[in-house]
Amino acid sequence: MEILDKCQVLKQYFGFDMFREGQEKLIDGILDGKDVFGIMPTGSGKSLCFQIPALMMEGITLVISPLISLMKDQVASLNQAGIHAAYLNSSLTPGQYHKALEYAKAGRYPIIYVAPERLETESFLDFALNSKIAMVAVDEAHCVSQWGQDFRPSYLKIVEFIKRLSKRPIVSAFTATATKEVREDIIDILMLQDPVMMTTGYDRPNLYLSVQTPRDKYEALKTYLEAHPEQGGIIYCLTRKLVEEVSTRLREDGFSVTRYHAGLSDAERRRNQDDFIYDRCLIMVATNAFGMGIDKSNVRFIIHYNMPGSIEAYYQEIGRCARDQEPGECILYYSGQDVVTNQFFIDHNTENRELDYVTRQIVAERDRERLRKMTFYCFTRECLRDYILRYFGEYHANYCGNCVNCLTQFESVDVTEIAKALVGCVSSCRQRYGVTVILDTVRGANTAKIRQYRMDENPYYGMLAKIPIYRLRQVMNELMLRDFLSVTTDEYAIVKLTDTSKKIIDEAEPVIMKMAKEQEARTKGKSDQKAGRSKKTGVELSATDKALFEKLRSLRMEIAREEQVPPYIVFSDKTLVHMCLSKPETKADMLSVPGIGEFKFGKYGKRFLRIFKENAVN
Ligand code: ADP
Ligand code: MG
Ligand code: ZN
Repeated sequence: MEILDKCQVLKQYFGFDMFREGQEKLIDGILDGKDVFGIMPTGSGKSLCFQIPALMMEGITLVISPLISLMKDQVASLNQAGIHAAYLNSSLTPGQYHKALEYAKAGRYPIIYVAPERLETESFLDFALNSKIAMVAVDEAHCVSQWGQDFRPSYLKIVEFIKRLSKRPIVSAFTATATKEVREDIIDILMLQDPVMMTTGYDRPNLYLSVQTPRDKYEALKTYLEAHPEQGGIIYCLTRKLVEEVSTRLREDGFSVTRYHAGLSDAERRRNQDDFIYDRCLIMVATNAFGMGIDKSNVRFIIHYNMPGSIEAYYQEIGRCARDQEPGECILYYSGQDVVTNQFFIDHNTENRELDYVTRQIVAERDRERLRKMTFYCFTRECLRDYILRYFGEYHANYCGNCVNCLTQFESVDVTEIAKALVGCVSSCRQRYGVTVILDTVRGANTAKIRQYRMDENPYYGMLAKIPIYRLRQVMNELMLRDFLSVTTDEYAIVKLTDTSKKIIDEAEPVIMKMAKEQEARTKGKSDQKAGRSKKTGVELSATDKALFEKLRSLRMEIAREEQVPPYIVFSDKTLVHMCLSKPETKADMLSVPGIGEFKFGKYGKRFLRIFKENAVN
């Protein structure tokens, strides 16, 4: 085989013309013989960073990956691109496993995916110690860290394994988790040697972001799904019970839906996941147990039926949307109950049982703080994207043009009087109570708690009785968001004054709040949303092209069935859309479509070209 450079490998095997941000630096680092560490968001293309050098280096690249489904998918993808790759994990029968090892020993695979548990087994060591291992690539590297959300003790075996090899291979690590603790843990635990680091931006500009507070979540969901037929997406719920409820109702209402949560059997989970990945079911209703490593590129929407517990979790979950870089929509349905449910999870967290009491308290406190930041996301009137990126320490313009807040018309409302009463009430009760007691006091509620605390004798009692409760809540959140009030991080969540509270009481600083224009907001929000979408797409297919797209899609489905791989592994939606627009007639035309390389052309090119020929005749 002729020797290809990295750009040729990218084009020939993967069918792409250009590297994405960060990919080249990491690939060059590896080809220079250095360790590398890539911290890049989900969907940014980390796999190519180790796959391309693996094809160019002499010797074998071992890829450590936590999930069987993930390995299967990536290996299928590589095989589709004409690359010999294999995986070694517990899903293989002993016979298949030994066969694969046999081939591996014979040097047939430049890339082998391995489950971390396999690393210390005798048969695997026998192979590894007698082969030339050029690189160990650790995917989802945050699994080594106890700080991360997905700690896997088996990941700790990686370093032991590397130490046993006669020559230390290049070690590369990849993760989408960005927090400082996790990052440091990865470098320490994997003992990366002066790695080339690459952290790329967290922004996913193709994702439309929105928060809604529907009175009836199910109705809102149904309306959305009816307006988006033929599109696939994930609906995340906080509890298994809700997953059952929502998926059942959707099925009864005639939607193509499946479900996933930890309460189902392994077999059913696998089946349902495959139904979704293979496009046999369009909609997946799931708890957060679903999704790690899912590389389905045409997930068009992610709807959160409940608010998740942290921005980290939210961003990871919506990261599965629109990985083909086409437009996708991420909508969060907020309700106050979601906060309560998340609080319950924090207070009854059983995962941390092995931690000592003090550490457990610290973890719980940290989680409450995360929940608070998540809750503020649902109330901010500022750019939602900016809010998330600032959370991860990135600074952008406070306008993205592709989130509900950037697309909604707001009016400025003077809420100074409400603010004064709320801060005054907190002060006069000597900062002893939580949000509910404060709100109940100012609106003059006659509850047992209010009488018990004698808040009905408080000077602010009933002062804001005429203001609707949702407005009081909005202002309370705004005051916290702007640091005029704060809340303790223990489980009691007591409202406290801050250094700036006095501005409101003593200096009578006016508090102006942005609120959606009531009437317009509803109708306007909708049309704006549409405008935002098509603006980002740039490609609204015409009716004839849409028909063409459907033809291409069914051919893709036919091939996927024959080859027993998910459709998006044959070609992504993006590739099909490009075909529709460019209407290729020759091989050269086809090769200029993103996602089509020599190998894939050789396999399917003619069949797709035929569709265009037939189409031109008609
Ligand atoms: P990550 O592991 O970072 O979440 P993946 O490696 O799974 O992301 O890649 C996500 C998607 O991006 C895949 O569909 C992949 O084919 C595509 N992709 C990767 N690199 C490029 C590139 N240079 N040009 C176009 N598409 C790319
Ligand atoms: Mg990945
Ligand atoms: Zn915005």
